[in-house]
Amino acid sequence: MKLNEQIIYFDNASTTRVYPCVLDIYRSIHEEYFANPSSIHKEGQKALYLFNKTKDNILSLLKMKDHQLIMTSGATEANNLAIKGIALRYKNRGNHLITSIYEHPSVLEAFKQLEDQFGFKVTYLSPADRGVITANSVKEAITDQTILVSVMAVNNEIGSINEIEKIASLLKGYPKIIFHVDACQAIGKLEKEISYNDVDLITVSAHKIHGLVGSGALIKRKRIELLPLNSGGGQEYNYRSGTEDLANLCAFYEALKLALEKEKENYQKVSSISKILINYLQDNKYKYELNSFNPINPYIINFSTLNKKGSVVVEALSNHNIMVSSVSACHSSKEKGSYVVKSLNKSDKVANNTIRVSLDASNTIEEMNIFISTIDKIIGEIR
Ligand code: PMP
Repeated sequence: MKLNEQIIYFDNASTTRVYPCVLDIYRSIHEEYFANPSSIHKEGQKALYLFNKTKDNILSLLKMKDHQLIMTSGATEANNLAIKGIALRYKNRGNHLITSIYEHPSVLEAFKQLEDQFGFKVTYLSPADRGVITANSVKEAITDQTILVSVMAVNNEIGSINEIEKIASLLKGYPKIIFHVDACQAIGKLEKEISYNDVDLITVSAHKIHGLVGSGALIKRKRIELLPLNSGGGQEYNYRSGTEDLANLCAFYEALKLALEKEKENYQKVSSISKILINYLQDNKYKYELNSFNPINPYIINFSTLNKKGSVVVEALSNHNIMVSSVSACHSSKEKGSYVVKSLNKSDKVANNTIRVSLDASNTIEEMNIFISTIDKIIGEIR
């Protein structure tokens, strides 16, 4: 593909295009604040001051008053630190953990390791109606051995929004249980923002909101401890050693500020684009099955091709410069079908032929119309 060739990018749940202003901040901070924030000289202390101030700014944007922010290389690292860090730190209190069956692989594989190598017992909750993980299912799974519940805010393949506030309020009655939420598909992308102040740990990732790949954070209630996974110089409250990445943190703050400032406006725009696709899918039920549930999260629309192979359609779309995914990018090369769609009790045929369209406010109605006419043509042409 030539450099300036137009593409239609509908894979924003995988990663978003970085905003130029975010890149500008990254560069200017590197130039002006290059000293190590852990150095005690004046330049180091200047960098440390900005580092701590930026963390405070991020926490106040997210309205998390009793928390502290641990920078990570993204959501994968934050999820691993939260899940293994809590389970291993508090294993003396109990050996039972709860999560959902359709979490991101960075959550599921961390739980699997705790099961296989450290003897923990894990309950995997299935989504209820409309693909939602409910507070009721969490309540039914709790035992006197439970020490951790981890449930994602928004599912990255089908877009369903889980009962995070209800689960947080339920868990207030269980002081021994720590609540972790992978919020990276939710931040800046909801009609009504979730309140995280009653959640103990949240995972966020910058590149889902036009920040830089390679930066994210675990935001943790101050009084809760973790077993660190990175040992070393004791940075990040001793939970994640390594020289602090000030430029990346400042770039993340800029991206987050813009995402939250424009959340309502962006939601309206994305809703109007996604409605066109939903109408098309509903008018063509003999060709497609919709896997996302009503009310549909406009940012993530998942459907299956009924008579054509989903991966072939995705490839054909790519040849027309339209980028969508079949399953989440993080497991697309390893697995055949979507375990997320399978967890909705759908047939193998439906789960093996999924297409995920994930939108952003930079997309347009015109792009959606091109997408629809192209996929319609492709479906007609493939034998
Ligand atoms: N959790 C969810 C819900 C995600 O969608 C993703 C990105 N695919 C991740 C975790 C991993 O994020 P990162 O690339 O920042 O490690």
